[in-house]
Amino acid sequence: MSDRAILHVDMDAFYASVEVLDDPSLRGKPVMVGGTPEGRGVVAAASYEARTFGVHSAMPAAQAVKRCPHGVFLRPRMERYLEISKEIFTVFRDFTPLVEPLSVDEAFLDVTGCRRLFGSAEDIGRAIKDRIGRDVGLTASVGLAPNKFLAKLASDLEKPDGFVVIEEGEVRERLAVLPVGKLWGVGKVTERELNRRGIITVGDLLAAPRQDLVDRFGDHAAHLLQLAVGHDERPVVPVHEAKSVGNEITFASDIADAEELRGIVDHLAEKVAWRLRRHGLCGRTIVLKARYPDFTTHTRSHTLPHPTQSTTEIRSAARELLTERLGRRGRALRLLGVTASHFEHEGGGQGELFTDAEVARDQDLDRVMDRVNEKFGKMLRRGGPLRRNDR
Ligand SMILES: [Mg+2]
Repeated sequence: MSDRAILHVDMDAFYASVEVLDDPSLRGKPVMVGGTPEGRGVVAAASYEARTFGVHSAMPAAQAVKRCPHGVFLRPRMERYLEISKEIFTVFRDFTPLVEPLSVDEAFLDVTGCRRLFGSAEDIGRAIKDRIGRDVGLTASVGLAPNKFLAKLASDLEKPDGFVVIEEGEVRERLAVLPVGKLWGVGKVTERELNRRGIITVGDLLAAPRQDLVDRFGDHAAHLLQLAVGHDERPVVPVHEAKSVGNEITFASDIADAEELRGIVDHLAEKVAWRLRRHGLCGRTIVLKARYPDFTTHTRSHTLPHPTQSTTEIRSAARELLTERLGRRGRALRLLGVTASHFEHEGGGQGELFTDAEVARDQDLDRVMDRVNEKFGKMLRRGGPLRRNDR
């Protein structure tokens, strides 16, 4: 393994902690941020006091209120969380430019190169944690390890207010006892699949006959086994501030058929969603662009109640824009484009509108599609006489 020093910094119960910061009378109380107990929404964040009642994030709010009837239920104030998020990321970037956000309250930092400047990697991790405490007034949990996978694992081990270092020599023993679901990229579906085969822990995975794994999981098996021994060479990729992600297609000849146009919008939406996921972004505004045979161009946009990277959601927003706003019956088009903008990083709270199970299903499906796409390098849908202008 290369000699890298990767930090994973994750704020503790972020939304709930911001609420307590802004209203100290909430301190020590079970605080839950998310959907209202009367609605179908879910808990987006629960304070540690709430967690002692068995409440956790992604739990339906109606269930949370049963477990914790005297808890304080608050609606999310996303703008405030983003404001604090900026402060946290400013602290990160004071130490290294190599900051890869995973969500509003979580990031990887590659501090390999700045050790001489700021001391050991452990010193840097502690300094970041202290500054977040002092300057922002919140606690973070920090993991330090030779790679991203292990760093993320480490930050989770002693939450809240944790600081865990995983050293090279203790990797195997730390990993062996963990449930396979803790491995990067093992979703609920894969975990169930492994469990059905008697593979419960990472140790079980390493002991399983290799050929069985390859037969069932194909190329993914090798990836799983790499993670199971703690190997992960992925670099920390700092995010460049893209303002939008979009794809458009100019047709070889004008298209008037509504069914066909909808198929093209679906395809574009899938592509945009896939790119968002690859960059760890969620878009809040979906824009549909249509050009008519006389070259007039119209755009219509729809702002979603929450940021998303889900194919299903982006597709349905784009379809709606096509059928209700732009697709005047029978009128031919020469170009269609779908764009997502107003980004937030992953974890912006899709859970607001959907149940845990719905979100998990949707995400699992997206993950499967992403694997297929990555394997074949392009979208499999629609060939045909299209000229593509990928922006
Ligand atoms: Mg967090």
